[in-house]
Amino acid sequence: MPEKDKKVTSPAPSDPIRGVKASVEPDSMIERRNTEPATPPVRERRKYKVSETPPPPAPPPKLNDYASIIGQPEIDEIRYIARLLRGKTVKMVNSTAVGGGVAEILNRLIPLMQEVEVQTKWEVITGGNDFFEVTKGFHNALHGGDYHPTKEIFDIFLMYNEQNRQRMEFVEDIFVIHDPQPAALIRSKERNRGKWIWRCHIDLSNPHREVWNFLKPFIEQYDATIFSSPAFTRQLSVPQYLFYPSIDPLSEKNKDLDESYVQKVCDDFGIDRSRPVITQISRFDRLKDPVGVIQAYKLAKKYVDCQLVLAGGGASDDPEGAVVLAEVMNEAGDDPDVIILNLPPWSALEINALQRASTIVIQKSLKEGFGLTVTEALWKRKPVIAGAVGGIPTQVIHKLTGVLVHSVEGCAYQIRYLLTHPDFAAQLGRHGHEHSKENFLLTSNVKRWLILYQQMLGLNKPVKVT
Ligand code: UDP
Repeated sequence: MPEKDKKVTSPAPSDPIRGVKASVEPDSMIERRNTEPATPPVRERRKYKVSETPPPPAPPPKLNDYASIIGQPEIDEIRYIARLLRGKTVKMVNSTAVGGGVAEILNRLIPLMQEVEVQTKWEVITGGNDFFEVTKGFHNALHGGDYHPTKEIFDIFLMYNEQNRQRMEFVEDIFVIHDPQPAALIRSKERNRGKWIWRCHIDLSNPHREVWNFLKPFIEQYDATIFSSPAFTRQLSVPQYLFYPSIDPLSEKNKDLDESYVQKVCDDFGIDRSRPVITQISRFDRLKDPVGVIQAYKLAKKYVDCQLVLAGGGASDDPEGAVVLAEVMNEAGDDPDVIILNLPPWSALEINALQRASTIVIQKSLKEGFGLTVTEALWKRKPVIAGAVGGIPTQVIHKLTGVLVHSVEGCAYQIRYLLTHPDFAAQLGRHGHEHSKENFLLTSNVKRWLILYQQMLGLNKPVKVT
């Protein structure tokens, strides 16, 4: 039997919670779905405090601030690579200035580019509700969802792209267009000398055929494309590059925190740090499998003491999120060791603290993009148990930088294993940190952009030795 699907079959230890010997019934672990919840829906869960207003934004860091993390030689190398590009101009275009991973990355990337004198301008396309409905439909369809595009839908997409194209000026050396929403701006390519790059942040491995057939002719006019994982690409007639998504180690979400702050957050949320804490931070979305996480926790809990923290956000303004949150509450029943937190969008510091307070971080997704929560946990030296989907296997190398699981039972097995083998868990955390430092930090991303710009502009030709 492969390790990943091994069931827990060793002699039953005493149940530390209930003080009785837990029975080991492997088959009971399998029958978990489509059964009535064993516990009644919870009526009143423990109250917790959240901050009610967003904190003021922190000023963006300078390149030298990263020296203590990646070392001065890395910083010098970035400056060295940038020197050939000094004075070159870049325009980045996406569809939203706030919210979402792309805006988050651009907010940090652009000040660093400016600092190394690659003049980078960020513009956001505009559109009516009809445009954003269409692009949301495209987004879901490109992820393989069901969709019924009509001529009118394609016309709306083209009309708003054309409006934006007329409004914007294209005078830079390089244009980076993010995701499908503004992809048709490429129509301006004929009229300027710049190089055009399409940066795709989504998984195109299984796109809706009609939507992809509509977009592909635009994409193939770009000079280069960038994907976040080899698994997300499609066959294209233009060059494709691999850029992993990145996290900023100095952001509120990832910076080092005072132990007293971590403790305060745990106190606010009713988390007992004298006992193991396993955590999944994710939107309340079925593809993140929060119910599966509770089931895995319940199985593991027969053998090892732990608390489960499920923290997510946006469930109040997302009708689907609210339904999933209700399912999660239902599955948790009245277990006081399951702590369910619905956090406001400005909870970066609290999420940082929760990740740091965790003994294990779980990301048991059934489908995933890159999985930034995994990157965040690896950075914090946490042993990670994660579903082997999307970009997760790029980050979690099984038994080296974390463990991959394929089922509730596998997840339960790994929770129990890691909680009872703390040295191995700590080793996973150390390796995970190194892996994220090498590959998934904002500074690595800056370096990749600079090298690509050099290549696109023909500036990195090998020097001829005579
Ligand atoms: N996140 C958050 N609040 C939440 C849940 C998640 O700020 O309540 C953050 C999380 O820390 C990560 C991002 O949202 O930075 C989620 O990215 P990921 O790639 O893991 O998943 P996605 O939500 O994009 O599918």
